[in-house]
Amino acid sequence: MKMLKTILKQFFHEPVTTLFPEEPPRNYAGTRGHLVFDPSKCTSCTMCMKRCPSQAIIVDRAAKTWIIDRFRCVMCGNCVDVCKFDSLSMEREYSKSAAAAERGVEKFDITYVKPEKPKKEGGE
Ligand code: SF4
Ligand code: SF4
Repeated sequence: MKMLKTILKQFFHEPVTTLFPEEPPRNYAGTRGHLVFDPSKCTSCTMCMKRCPSQAIIVDRAAKTWIIDRFRCVMCGNCVDVCKFDSLSMEREYSKSAAAAERGVEKFDITYVKPEKPKKEGGE
C-alpha cells in the first residue's frame, strides 16, 4: 500500500530530473561549476599544485606558466582555499566541455609583476 501511494504521488509530481542538454543545467549557491585562474595575481608560489589531490595543476616558475588538466580536476576546491593571492576562484556556471580545450589541458602565461619596494627616505 505504501508503495502504491509513492507511485501515485510520482504520477502527479513534476519530474525532478531535467532534460539536459536541451535545458541548461541548474546551479545553486554552492555549485562548483568551473575553476577560474587570474594570471595577473599568481605569484607562482606553487601551493595549488602541492595541494591538488589529483595532480591537475602544474606551476612552472621558470617558464612562468600555470597549467590545468581539466580532465583530472575533481572540483574539490582545495586550490582555491590555499591560494592566498586570490588568483583562483570557483564559478557557479559550468564550463564548456573539457574536450573543447586541447585534451582538456589549458595553459596560461603568468603575468604577475612583483611590486617594487618603496625606497627609504634619506638614502642615496
Ligand atoms: S594560483 Fe595561487 S596558489 Fe597557485 S601558484 Fe598561483 S598564487 Fe600560488
Ligand atoms: S579544484 Fe581540486 S582537483 Fe581541481 S585543480 Fe583545484 S585542487 Fe585540483
